[in-house]
Amino acid sequence: MTVSAHANHAQTSEMNGAIAPTQPVVALNEISRVYGTGEAMVRACDRMSLTIQRGEYCAIMGESGSGKTTLMNIIGCLDRPSSGRYRLNGVDVSQLGKNRLARIRNQNIGFVFQRYELLNSLTALENVILPMMYTGIGRSQRRQLAADALGRMGLGHRLDKRPPQLSGGQQQRVAIARAIVNRPLILLADEPTGALDTHSAEAVMEIFAELHQAGITIVMVTHSHEVACYSKRIIQVSDGRILHDRVSPAALPQ
Ligand code: ADP
Ligand code: MG
Repeated sequence: MTVSAHANHAQTSEMNGAIAPTQPVVALNEISRVYGTGEAMVRACDRMSLTIQRGEYCAIMGESGSGKTTLMNIIGCLDRPSSGRYRLNGVDVSQLGKNRLARIRNQNIGFVFQRYELLNSLTALENVILPMMYTGIGRSQRRQLAADALGRMGLGHRLDKRPPQLSGGQQQRVAIARAIVNRPLILLADEPTGALDTHSAEAVMEIFAELHQAGITIVMVTHSHEVACYSKRIIQVSDGRILHDRVSPAALPQ
């Protein structure tokens, strides 16, 4: 399996005309996210600061309820911080309205979820074509790009299958193809192996390793130390705060 390099030059220039090439992809400055009010108030993220450079492969770890998904939703522009500043590739997205945020999200973020979140009524190929529907890419090229992405996931022979006809591991690989087909700035994965058997989980981690090698920035949430050890940097969160931010054993000299 070979994975071609994914830069994101088109989106970069569209988001902001004057961007220095070395700036972080993600720059969170003291962001908080508060749910509810009064007695019911929960501070899911509590003044988190975090910088992620282009091409990094990070794992976010922490107990259930520690704020991992909230943090991922903010990084992925699905949600905004209650306070603090978030710059995505140099663009301050902390105050953007829903529509602007959605546009930036569609252009820059690829998501992989624990439960794949594919559309069962569509074939694998159609699922991967979907995020290209509003990109201005022509119909035949969309099919070609989707088929190529599925081919890179080892699913070139499964293009016409619908999700219920595929194994969990295969469905997750369709979801990864869908997430990367638009060449996102960041690939965000929330427990991508959480529903998979060991063998399928390893296959998914091998794909992530190849995407990382190809230069894609990856941020993944996981409960598993084994899975986290595939990454190069492990960020441990607890009660909405960053407890540790360390180089992963995988990134240390053997
Ligand atoms: P994790 O992904 O680490 O399990 P979450 O980010 O989902 O953690 O949740 C962090 C905290 O915020 C938890 O206490 C959770 O109950 C709370 N929370 C998450 N989403 C909401 C929401 N939409 N409304 C109210 N509280 C929420
Ligand atoms: Mg979660």
